[in-house]
Amino acid sequence: MIPTLSGNQGLQIEEPLIFEQDSPGASGVDLPDAPAIDDRLGGLARQGRIGLPGLAEPTVVRHYTRLSQKNVGIDSVFYPLGSCTMKHNPRLNEKLARLPGLADIHPFQPQGTVQGALELIDTCAHWLKTLTGMPAIAMSPAAGAHGEFCGLMTIRAAIGARGETRPRILVPESAHGTNPASAAACGFSVDPIPATARGRVDVAALKAKLGPDVAALMLTNPNTCGLFEDEILEIAAAVHDAGGYFYCDGANYNAIVGRVRVADLGVDVMHINLHKTFSTPHGGGGPGAGPTVLSQALAPFAPLPAVVHDAQGFRLIEHAAQSGAMPVGRIKGYHGQFGVFVRALAYMMSMGADGLRQASSDAVLNANYLLAELSSDLSASFEGPCMHEALFDDRFLKDSGVSTLDFAKALIDEGFHPMTMYFPLVVHGALLMEPTETESKDTLDRFIATVRGLARRARDGAAESFKAAPVLTPRRRLDETTAARTPVLRWKPPAA
Ligand SMILES: *Cc1c(COP(=O)(O)O)cnc(C)c1O
Repeated sequence: MIPTLSGNQGLQIEEPLIFEQDSPGASGVDLPDAPAIDDRLGGLARQGRIGLPGLAEPTVVRHYTRLSQKNVGIDSVFYPLGSCTMKHNPRLNEKLARLPGLADIHPFQPQGTVQGALELIDTCAHWLKTLTGMPAIAMSPAAGAHGEFCGLMTIRAAIGARGETRPRILVPESAHGTNPASAAACGFSVDPIPATARGRVDVAALKAKLGPDVAALMLTNPNTCGLFEDEILEIAAAVHDAGGYFYCDGANYNAIVGRVRVADLGVDVMHINLHKTFSTPHGGGGPGAGPTVLSQALAPFAPLPAVVHDAQGFRLIEHAAQSGAMPVGRIKGYHGQFGVFVRALAYMMSMGADGLRQASSDAVLNANYLLAELSSDLSASFEGPCMHEALFDDRFLKDSGVSTLDFAKALIDEGFHPMTMYFPLVVHGALLMEPTETESKDTLDRFIATVRGLARRARDGAAESFKAAPVLTPRRRLDETTAARTPVLRWKPPAA
């Protein structure tokens, strides 16, 4: 970085905390002096300032405007983060989600005054069931991981209703961390299944682990190596023959929407990350939504509430007594992430069947373009084409002194958000790239040229420059370990 007198770099301003900009007495508005009042709180009355900064309006506006400009997202750069589907979110969907009739309603309103909103939930549920071919759906889970929790609770309830206890859940090694975490949270033990050299579940190893104590298999398809589990029918049949259920992690559904009917794969339950597949900006903590589709066998155990439609109109079933079902209970306040449903429905209806099919095709095409173009300079982990994401490992960096992390940091200096690093764990030093389906060939070509150039630079012995990266950002490499282990969450004013 070039040293400057101000600490700023060009028009990138070194932003102090808002507390550090405190100017006691400054305010955005003029207030009259507070009238004198009788202190009736005795010693409890406030003795001094409470530490809120005094700030003029322009200071506040600049501070938050500049902070907002430090956001990097799909709206500003190419963002090839794998296992996450960083989707372009059509502005139409945002506009509809902000309509006062949808944004300003309250979950406690009488149902007669929100018939349109209930119809919207019901219609969104209908299209998700139609796309997946599944007969039932729980709309309330708030994210993918919450959908896993919902699905595993229904599985536990169904097994209990059979008078059985099955304590074990099988999870492939390549699974997202939320899978074993959800299984453990629901009281199951987790048993890992190895991957084959083809990056798929080892079916023989799976079959050897099946037995009367196995509640379910959790499998992601396409999996986190970006590959379609092509033995999925055999896998589903084996799990069912052993009396277990088949949980499909649907986080990668974007790759197969309109192409594959999930029900045809023998799936009993699958969460859909609406924020990954059906619009809604995500990252930075949400909001998301994880509606969970269910087979006939699991449907009676779905959590409430549920929207139903009858002669009186749209209605919420909120208690088991209203439906005769055996729900696992309520897993979230109110009726789910309504604003995300609005975006998802707007996305599905504006895209149409042909548009949804094209989106999944384009996602797969873009990923295969990266895979084909980069395979000569990087090391592709598995043979053959991929689905929506291309997986490379760090063999191409062998003996260069450059690590996957260094490579990712160098990409930041080049103006690209890095791909997912070190996940999945089944290959060494993973680089997982998922190019959004809306990216143009032009953008992909610029990314490809940059990645190739960096790979050649690494091979040519330029490790030093990689170790220094990023050099063009407001901050260099942060100490992420210390930040996670000893976070400083409270600002302390400097001693007076
Ligand atoms: C994102 C993701 C999840 C978790 O979903 P959230 O909505 O982030 O809770 C689970 N599995 C896979 C494969 C994922 O990519």
